[in-house]
Amino acid sequence: MGKVDVGGGAPVSVQSMTTTQTTDINGTLQQIAALTAAGCDIVRVAVPTTDDAVALKAIATKSQIPVIADIHFQPKYVFAAIDAGCAAVRVNPGNIRKFDDQVKEIANAARDAGVSIRIGVNAGSLDPRLLAKYGKATPEALVESAVWEASLFEEHGFHDFKISVKHNDPVIMVRAYELLSERGDWPLHLGVTEAGPAFQGTIKSATAFGALLSKGIGDTIRVSLSAPPVEEVKVGIQILQSLNLRPRKLEIVSCPSCGRAQVDVYSLAERVTAGLEGLDVPLRVAVMGCVVNGPGEAREADLGVASGNGKGQIFVKGEIVKTVPEAMIVETLIEEALRIAATMEKTSEGGGATVTVG
Ligand code: SF4
Repeated sequence: MGKVDVGGGAPVSVQSMTTTQTTDINGTLQQIAALTAAGCDIVRVAVPTTDDAVALKAIATKSQIPVIADIHFQPKYVFAAIDAGCAAVRVNPGNIRKFDDQVKEIANAARDAGVSIRIGVNAGSLDPRLLAKYGKATPEALVESAVWEASLFEEHGFHDFKISVKHNDPVIMVRAYELLSERGDWPLHLGVTEAGPAFQGTIKSATAFGALLSKGIGDTIRVSLSAPPVEEVKVGIQILQSLNLRPRKLEIVSCPSCGRAQVDVYSLAERVTAGLEGLDVPLRVAVMGCVVNGPGEAREADLGVASGNGKGQIFVKGEIVKTVPEAMIVETLIEEALRIAATMEKTSEGGGATVTVG
């Protein structure tokens, strides 16, 4: 199981959560392997029962990426997860019984094992005392819950933790993280909780993460989608690439098409995208419908086509290298892209780091 630093200047990492039964060790490990292949940095698994806690050891041992045990209600599973070798444990101050009384023991056990903690406050399970005080899960209520729990850990000299204050409304969520970032410099795990099906959840997450990350708030992200977890990872990576927080890989610059288009831009862009799927190099490919913006965009890209009059002018690094009939555009772009990709070195993500593991 690898190590991933969170906070302290480390690159923003992408997390997801398994959807398998944790007791299904093979199924869970298979899903973790798929997430790892998709670029997931850290994975969380649910631990609702004793049998799940028992399964953690095998999962944590065989996973290639750090495993976080997600614990609600039962502090005893926190100790089980630490013993099992999980990289981190997520606790929810709103619903973990007698949690506050056991912070000292948890802090000591985690410190001894080198395990980090996430204090994961969630609007749907806010501490009843704060719900009574604020009437609902306001940004202030979420932050008060998180800061209170953080202070308990800090009283016991434990600092290897990160915090999340999730809400399903991106506006409330953004405000909560802004307030939290003013209260301390803890590493922050960003998430819009229960963000919805893929389309809506992607928009909500991208909007909220963009607002926060562009201000330097946030150290690790989890996109929550009612969709397979690999999709969460793809969206998370794309958000980081769009914010230039990760090197951009394949990027298709295609125009929306309009009444001037002299070619079917949608189909062209789709076919080029499909043909280049899996290409793991930073390549910008422009697919443009006519000569208005076409040559300009195509020149700016690594590779591009400006279409018109049944032909496509193919640009490589700003120069027209050939003109091909419309029927040959896709094939030519793919061929040129693969040729350019072969000459490019794969980019590697660097980055130092300091703080939390998992
Ligand atoms: S590039 Fe041409 S076809 Fe595409 S949107 Fe612009 S003007 Fe319309």
